[in-house]
Amino acid sequence: MESNIILALDVEDVTKALRIAEEVSEFVKAFKVGYPLILGSGVKIIKDVSKFGEVIVDIKIADIPDVSKNVARILSSQGADGVIVQGFVGRDVVREVRKEAKHLYVVAEMSHPGNADYISESSERIALMAKEEGADGIVAPATHPKRIRALKQISGLKVLSPGVGTQGGSYREAMESGADYLIIGRSIFMSPDPKHKIEEILSQG
Ligand code: C5P
Repeated sequence: MESNIILALDVEDVTKALRIAEEVSEFVKAFKVGYPLILGSGVKIIKDVSKFGEVIVDIKIADIPDVSKNVARILSSQGADGVIVQGFVGRDVVREVRKEAKHLYVVAEMSHPGNADYISESSERIALMAKEEGADGIVAPATHPKRIRALKQISGLKVLSPGVGTQGGSYREAMESGADYLIIGRSIFMSPDPKHKIEEILSQG
């Protein structure tokens, strides 16, 4: 099944995570593994999940360039097909992470209300910088669909968009605004039937 959903596996329990990953593997484009799962089960979880599909590691790398590069190297060596780096930390960080990431995604803007405190005023410059530094995509929020269009236009990159479902964003609106992939977590993994939930979301498109 052709799917543009990236499942955010934000569960701490490794058994649950792997059960869901196996169950929905044909229905998702990739899995996003982040802090809850890595802290709950160790970095080895990347390899375990990758048995069921592509894994994008989202620990939103945001350290000094050298440390960030080493973190990306470790994640890649553990089987990460992609890593996510924060754009607001600057060009030098993104440039170093690029060297060690198979695929690189840069957070241009976030989906939560606090995004408006600091990040949103810089997001257009971050999107442009992501393109200049050779990123494969940017992360931009489905909770602000207009921003997806603007940031996609500026960067010309693929847009991975979180915020559909629990955070209030709409799948259809995000798609119409130019999102390429939808990062969705809770509304799928908290559903009693994750596979059916994915089918339901995709049918809205
Ligand atoms: O559960 P929900 O669908 O809201 O999960 C959204 C996922 O997208 C979480 O894993 C969160 O870390 C991630 N994310 C986000 N906003 C960003 C970048 C990533 O919500 N800008």
